[in-house]
Amino acid sequence: MTYDLIIRNARILDGSGAAEYTADVAVTDGRIAQIGDLGSASATSDIDAKGLALAPGFIDVHTHDDTNVIRQPEMLPKISQGVTTVVVGNCGISASPVSLKGDPPDPMNLLGEAKDFSYPTFDDYRRAVDAAVPSVNVAALIGHTALRNNHMDRLDRVATPDEINGMREQLRDALENGALGLSTGLAYASAISSTTDEVKSLAEVLNDFGGVYTTHLRTEFDGILDAMDEAFDIGRHAKSPVIVSHLKCAGAGNWGRSVEVIDKIEHAAKGHPAGCDCYPYSASSSTLDLKQVTSDFDILITWSTPHPEMGGKKLADIAAEWNLPLMDAAKKLQPAGAVYYGMDENDVRRILSNQLTMVGSDGLPNDPLPHPRLWGAFPRVLGHYSRDVGLFPLTEAVRKMTGLSADRFGLGDRGRIKVGHWADLVLFDPATIRDTANFKDPIQAADGIEAVWVNGVLSYQHKQLTGQRAGRFLPRSRDLRVGFH
Ligand SMILES: [Zn+2]
Repeated sequence: MTYDLIIRNARILDGSGAAEYTADVAVTDGRIAQIGDLGSASATSDIDAKGLALAPGFIDVHTHDDTNVIRQPEMLPKISQGVTTVVVGNCGISASPVSLKGDPPDPMNLLGEAKDFSYPTFDDYRRAVDAAVPSVNVAALIGHTALRNNHMDRLDRVATPDEINGMREQLRDALENGALGLSTGLAYASAISSTTDEVKSLAEVLNDFGGVYTTHLRTEFDGILDAMDEAFDIGRHAKSPVIVSHLKCAGAGNWGRSVEVIDKIEHAAKGHPAGCDCYPYSASSSTLDLKQVTSDFDILITWSTPHPEMGGKKLADIAAEWNLPLMDAAKKLQPAGAVYYGMDENDVRRILSNQLTMVGSDGLPNDPLPHPRLWGAFPRVLGHYSRDVGLFPLTEAVRKMTGLSADRFGLGDRGRIKVGHWADLVLFDPATIRDTANFKDPIQAADGIEAVWVNGVLSYQHKQLTGQRAGRFLPRSRDLRVGFH
């Protein structure tokens, strides 16, 4: 028979964390058809990998690409890193189901402008993704803040029982249509007034579907352990797996506390499905949050609606220029975006290297000066942290961005190089792979990504899009409580 594609002589990193081996991989009808010595077998496209590494396409479990997968379906920041699937709807904010009354409330504005929110139901969103045919596959969470926006006149209070019922119905409808679960962003002003009971009432719906609960904790600063307890309390109540989003120890007073934080999540994971994602940088980024304004470390302003000319400057310099206290300058800049240099490198390494941790970029695709994680997170884990720093073997780095991620989010038949699995594949050079995006010059494609296939279709090669796109919407494929380990 003739296969659609054979990739010969590849170092196979299969996504399970197992030792690598050299083999040929054949693909037909979008799926992996054979692995081994394919000798004289023929294929329409026959490629010699020459000993480069072949891994399952990377799964970015933490993104805010909700509207970008439709508006910019090339998804160059992600496909250029070898990412073949993105999970959208994190941190309590999702593009659907959403009905806006005006401008999107902070931080929903990270996803786009009012005109970009045109999905009143999850089914509308799902159809729009499939119609756009993005270069990457898309799976979606439903945001708590998005639901609050739909049912509440103001977000600085707890929801009433009627409002919670309205949110539950929308969440149920989305889960019936393939959403992965519920996300919260409890640290943000738009959700911090919600009580644990409000979130529990919503999370209960997950139990009927085997959905997952992901959370940007109520705080990542001094109170982080209590915030983690709240997350696990919600998960246990809902009998749902818990994923702590972008786990970190934020703020100078918190440096070094990753030991306690890891203890907490490992302890929780013994009795209940629990895990986390992490981006490989010691600076965070989001909208400019007055609660995080401090002189303890640098804060870089990336955009400002009233003062776009201040993008790229430090908040302290802007304050000096305006002759204002830091806080007053921050207020004058809002709405705005910021990068906070507020983490300790040792904490980042301890969290990233833990076996419960998946890689997620948390990239902000609509920021004019995006945190470099948008373009560099995955190559940085492979090149900088695995190869150069030696934080973990390459097989483990790949597991954190493929097999583990597919298991946690129930992405059926993906995340591993295995016969029968979808041919989401990335061919890369372990010797040269490198993130080139940095804080000064963050819009840069990584080095060392040789070729990327999505559902068997060659989508990126030689640092360029091929013009072919083959991503699709991925509904929750199974009960996510199963397969957690
Ligand atoms: Zn977040």
